[in-house]
Amino acid sequence: MILVTGGAGYIGSHTVLKLLERGFDVAVADNFINSKTKVIERMKKLAKRDFSFYETDVREKDQLDKIFSENKIDLVIHFAGLKAPGESVDKPLEYYANNLDSTIALTCAMNEHGVFKLVFSSSAAVYDLRSDMPLDEASPTGNCANPYGRSKRMCEQILTDAVNANKLRSVALLRYFNPIGAHESGQIGEDPQDTPNNLMPYITQTAVGRRSRLYVYGNDYDTPDGTGVRDYIHVEDLAAGHIAAIEYLENNHGVSVFNLGAGKGVSVMELICAFEKASGVEIKTEFAARRPGDSPICYASVDKAKTLLGWEAKKTIAEACADSWRWQKSNPNGY
Ligand code: NAD
Ligand code: UDP
Repeated sequence: MILVTGGAGYIGSHTVLKLLERGFDVAVADNFINSKTKVIERMKKLAKRDFSFYETDVREKDQLDKIFSENKIDLVIHFAGLKAPGESVDKPLEYYANNLDSTIALTCAMNEHGVFKLVFSSSAAVYDLRSDMPLDEASPTGNCANPYGRSKRMCEQILTDAVNANKLRSVALLRYFNPIGAHESGQIGEDPQDTPNNLMPYITQTAVGRRSRLYVYGNDYDTPDGTGVRDYIHVEDLAAGHIAAIEYLENNHGVSVFNLGAGKGVSVMELICAFEKASGVEIKTEFAARRPGDSPICYASVDKAKTLLGWEAKKTIAEACADSWRWQKSNPNGY
């Protein structure tokens, strides 16, 4: 059985569904700090299968003991954490407390209960974004733009130390680039609790009328059209990357690092155009100042995941836009 922390969130819910579809037994732990209870029912309905759910903060030792005692867990996927880079600048202590403490508590509980395999949600934010693009797994880390990125890098180091001390045996550090899209049913998707920080939910909320316009942060970057370039990956491809990582950990011990991205850069204006084409809805945009801390370009080299995991992103930007739109149109106010 696989324990998924943060399994009610955006990436977690899509991954849990894929695990259930592939026949894995799953237990989910989430405290709904950034998600809604409704997602659990929708996942069960889509998968036509049940799974154990624990409403808990994964920093709580008693609760972790209960979960590990009640289930025969073979591997943990640790999605739970706070994830907004901008917010982390104003609330650094909350970010360090949640992201580090959850990782430490979980690692201790896993060790005590004899569970040694972990897949960790890391981020492109751990890289020094002043490096040459594309970023590969050996590109420099550190000099992170915000406390969020630093917290993820610290977790990577904590987990590496735990493996070196034989507290864990097999750890995959998955560095995600920019997840977009939604399950093709339109039943689960990204549902930011406040004003969206990320581009795609801001686009879809503008399209559905919840926002009057989209502000494009910077059109004077040294990029082909002057707007920021990122590596957008469909959340379903990302979910599939976790299955590939689980299979890889069967036979590979130690710490393995993988970029999970599409491996190509797409600008803000290109994403808006693709969305307009997929949805048939015009997005009112306005150019605004650069967002502090933003890098002009960030995209991944995904050769390592292709070679060792046998995984690569398959879905197009057009499909991701169509899926994001289907989700938002069917759920204008989220869950
Ligand atoms: P999300 O906020 O939608 O999901 C995280 C889930 O974890 C939420 O359901 C939240 O309620 C839960 N949670 C948070 N702290 C918890 C705690 N202490 N105990 C129990 N549950 C807790 O975020 P997401 O986009 O699905 O991201 C999942 C992971 O991937 C995060 O670790 C994030 O940092 C990482 N990541 C996300 C992105 C992205 O752009 N979405 C990019 C790179 C990495
Ligand atoms: N962006 C934007 N308007 C928004 C949100 C984002 O122009 O409302 C831009 C942002 O400046 C960046 C790109 O879209 O160039 C992706 O931003 P996001 O926050 O989604 O991802 P990140 O910058 O964290 O990789």
